[in-house]
Amino acid sequence: MGTPKRTLVTSALPYANGPLHIGHLAGAYLNADIYVRWLRGIGEEVLFVCGSDEHGAAITVRALKEGMSPKQIVDKYHHLFQSTFAAIGISFDVYDRTSSELHHQTSQDFFRKLYQDGAFIERESEQYFDEEAQSFLADRYIMGTCPRCSNPDAYGDQCERCGSTLSPTELIEPRSTLSGSKPVMRSTRHWYLPLENHETWLREWITDGTIDGVVHHYPADWKNHVLGQCKSWLDAGLQPRAMTRDLDWGVDVPQEIPGSAGKKLYVWMDAPIGYISATRKWANEHGKDWESWWKNPETSIIHFIGKDNIVFHCLIFPAILKAHGGYNLPINVPANQFMNLEGNKISTSRNWAVWVDEFVRDFPGMEDSLRYNMIRNMPEQRDSEFTWKNFQETHNSELVNNLANFVNRVLVLTRKYYNGAVPPADFKDTFLDQDSNQTTIQSWMNDLAGRIRQVDISIRQFSFREAMQQVMEISSVGNQILQINEPWKAIKNDPDSVRPVMFISLQIVVAISRLIRPFLPFTADRLDKFLALDSGKEQDRIKQLLDAIEHKGPLLKSGHQTGDSGHLFDRIPDEVIDEQITRLHGRDATSITSESTEPPFSPQKETIQYDQFTGLDIRSGVIVHGEKVPKADRLLKLEVDLGFERRTIVSGIAEHFSPSEIIGQQVVVLSNLAPRTLKGIESQGMILMASLPDGTLEFILPGSPIPPGCVIS
Ligand SMILES: [Zn+2]
Repeated sequence: MGTPKRTLVTSALPYANGPLHIGHLAGAYLNADIYVRWLRGIGEEVLFVCGSDEHGAAITVRALKEGMSPKQIVDKYHHLFQSTFAAIGISFDVYDRTSSELHHQTSQDFFRKLYQDGAFIERESEQYFDEEAQSFLADRYIMGTCPRCSNPDAYGDQCERCGSTLSPTELIEPRSTLSGSKPVMRSTRHWYLPLENHETWLREWITDGTIDGVVHHYPADWKNHVLGQCKSWLDAGLQPRAMTRDLDWGVDVPQEIPGSAGKKLYVWMDAPIGYISATRKWANEHGKDWESWWKNPETSIIHFIGKDNIVFHCLIFPAILKAHGGYNLPINVPANQFMNLEGNKISTSRNWAVWVDEFVRDFPGMEDSLRYNMIRNMPEQRDSEFTWKNFQETHNSELVNNLANFVNRVLVLTRKYYNGAVPPADFKDTFLDQDSNQTTIQSWMNDLAGRIRQVDISIRQFSFREAMQQVMEISSVGNQILQINEPWKAIKNDPDSVRPVMFISLQIVVAISRLIRPFLPFTADRLDKFLALDSGKEQDRIKQLLDAIEHKGPLLKSGHQTGDSGHLFDRIPDEVIDEQITRLHGRDATSITSESTEPPFSPQKETIQYDQFTGLDIRSGVIVHGEKVPKADRLLKLEVDLGFERRTIVSGIAEHFSPSEIIGQQVVVLSNLAPRTLKGIESQGMILMASLPDGTLEFILPGSPIPPGCVIS
């Protein structure tokens, strides 16, 4: 399949302030992993790099709200990412992090070179400054009233109530989240990359695929939506973009540069350089040369990302690389679209997600079932959707009924007829193929080689859904061959005719075990075990398969003893799926918009015994403090005085009440509810609310003021 090439594959650096969900997986990791594993199998040189993106204001804001340091936040998620990626089988060659020393050094070297070469322009601008905290304020550090919907707690970049994108100067009565004081405008200097100076060559590179008139890639190989987004940015005219920020968490602007004090690299300047730092880390650890992966024109670079990162990978990062000089530009940026979940957009703040680490815990040994469903529904050209029912269906009808069924039949019959050994057969022997034509083993194996080349083409076109289907088709064909030849009947009258049928069936199982590895690596391991083949090493395994076919030698020789087999997959029963659906809806019940008109009164719950009631400890209390929980539209973090102690209670009332209007509010509290952690905050009780027919909530009020701590029964 062509001359051996060298390919550097990157996956978008996940941002270290929340766990990974299925949308991430389908967007930038699973596709890259299939691509890399396939190239390894074909015998090409490939390096797969990624790491955690650990800088930017969103990390510090999160740290502030969780009462942790930014370092603690990024450590927490970096380790979670590492274990999650490993558990779901993403086979990075190196997984780095942008807080590493080497990365700071690499990105500072970049900045220094661009500065020395005069690639930046310096600009003064007015920005909000907190005089009490003596700090410039990132957009996320400023809150105020939304000019669109009057939400008193809108952020400087966005109002989470009405969804408007804002700039800090639009906020009415802005306040600093650091000190609560009113910020003042102060001028600050920053370094900007004048992207407009790069527009001409970027346009040529994107639309013609040429650099200085020399062909670099074929634009027809790029996805339409990627080209479309790039062109619309270019057509709108590129603007200078600030490459630095006033922040206290991030990569320092090199100290020797005048005016560098308090300045950090813009996170979108430092993050993509993280791919380079990760390559350096890998090279250091393996005694290799990192530069050949980035600077040698023989190396192809491919960035796997989600569509929200297109502008950074197709325009801004290439401009940074070109301004620096000496670096290759990506040969392709096959960005995926988004994956939705059960009819709604995946939302971290609303907890409307399937978290990959939770899935791995809930479905041990079924990692490949998730991978399979993600591949079947990969948002390659347009947004796609995950539903639990579809997950169950693809597992039961395709993995169980097709793949596991075929493998199981072949191995069981081999054990029954030949004590588990591959029967003797010749490549000239014949059997009935899937179309009931008499065919030789050799001829059928040649067809198989053709099918494998088709999979190769699909993968190189980033059509992973199609490639997966082509592999599964081989299993379907195997099932048909068994069905047509009916070895279970022939074994009685014409046992000699059964040998080539079982021989070819076993070769198909081996072929599947090799071809399926890039998609379903855990299944490939299990198949290798069933076949008693040496597992693990990925390099060249698909190449060996093709070589064997070409040299008319079987992969599984006559006499080879297969191992113990079991079930590849068990069916997923309805209860398991129903439980997941209930859980998903339960943790965000209010987000589900129902078209049906509900009766004004919800049905009465089941009768309980008196003991169950007296087990509830219900108290009067007073709210003494309230604040919004970041990234959670519905949650308020409240301090409630219960007389004998103060409690932190997280309450889902943020859509109905602002923190300022409920200070001093009398409340009724279920005080002996087991603590629960919501958004990293331990909630120690529950405030009882009345749900009104119009969907609003009201506090339950006593007829006259009562002191906190009174028992209510
Ligand atoms: Zn608003």
